[in-house]
Amino acid sequence: MYQETAKRLLEFIRKSPTAFHAVEEMGQRFLERGFKELKEEEHWELCCGGNYFVTRNHSAIIAFSIPKEEVWQFRIMASHSDSPSFKIKENPEITVEDAYVKLNVEKYGGMLLAPWFDRPLSVAGRMIVRENGKFKEKLVCVDRDLLMIPSLAIHMNREVNEGYKYNVQTDLLPLYGSSEAKGSFLSLIAGEAGVKEEDVLGHDLFLYNRTPGTIWGAENEFISSSRLDDLQCAFSSMEGFLNGGRSESIAVHCVMDNEEVGSTTKQGAASTFLKDTLMRINAGLGRTQEEYLMTLAGSFMVSADNAHALHPNYTGKADPVNRPVLNKGIVIKYNANQKYCTDGLSGAVFKDICREAKVPVQTFVNRSDIAGGSTLGNISNTQAAMNTVDIGLPQLAMHSSYETAGIQDTEYLIKAAEVLFR
Ligand code: ZN
Repeated sequence: MYQETAKRLLEFIRKSPTAFHAVEEMGQRFLERGFKELKEEEHWELCCGGNYFVTRNHSAIIAFSIPKEEVWQFRIMASHSDSPSFKIKENPEITVEDAYVKLNVEKYGGMLLAPWFDRPLSVAGRMIVRENGKFKEKLVCVDRDLLMIPSLAIHMNREVNEGYKYNVQTDLLPLYGSSEAKGSFLSLIAGEAGVKEEDVLGHDLFLYNRTPGTIWGAENEFISSSRLDDLQCAFSSMEGFLNGGRSESIAVHCVMDNEEVGSTTKQGAASTFLKDTLMRINAGLGRTQEEYLMTLAGSFMVSADNAHALHPNYTGKADPVNRPVLNKGIVIKYNANQKYCTDGLSGAVFKDICREAKVPVQTFVNRSDIAGGSTLGNISNTQAAMNTVDIGLPQLAMHSSYETAGIQDTEYLIKAAEVLFR
């Protein structure tokens, strides 16, 4: 069963090279299941027993189900749609000595740089075009090997293996073509989107890794792909949400954008997107502001973002006791300084959910001398405060362009989400 799930996860990631595509893909899944798409700029007519979804910026999505019976709590699982990558700058082409055309890019998020070298890359994202006098958004994904960031040969820097500091502006620019390709990049992308170059008014284009995901290891126990952080959690949340009964609470599947750059955008976890949606659900049910606050106080959120597993070559980097490993279950993340918002109570609630779902849990705490990362939970709580746990699936090589996880863990999170949303 978990092999099937892992294959479906890889298929979902293949179709989701950017946050825009991930949200499009999830929206399609919800439409197929009879969900109604709501627009933020329109009035919402909600009814008990209804299933809905809404997107913001085409890169964040919230789906929710209102049970037939009267319920007074939200059950939320939140994850993120974005991953570190390179964004294509305006006027992207740079000609090199009449020999090459390369592209001007900048970093999006905090990534490991080395894994982007010497592998086929391509371009995906969205374009804003003029169509019949109106602005229209077009998703685009160039589905072929288009770019490469070649390393410098060892002969030209013999000391490189002693440690090298990459300069993103000079070392990481992808090669696009020979000099004949000059001036063709934006028209090529426009052509892929089925529009004319002169109709393109704006773009949000990113590099993506063309290497397909794979299942591997002595017993096929590992899965590797780009964007496991955090599409593995977004996919599990979506599957658990669709499978769950959704009858004891208002079930909310929430995928935010821009986690990798601090969440402070209109579609990030620090925005009002979740709060606005929850308030409009409350209003749509004919409830008062006080009743919204009462509902929030009784609600529970699972902030799902991948976690660091014990690394086979760097075991000293893990806490001496809390050492999660691949395929051994969902990781509950703790941090005294509340970079992770798990506390004794929310950790207990989540352990109980996993007990009911019959899935194993592990715990993660940073080594006390390593700062570690942060995630969605506490940021989201500044807008819509409720009891929240931070969890994730164990993985290696976080923020590499090709990450590694356990093949069984996706299934565990789906099962836990089913219980959460029941
Ligand atoms: Zn993440």
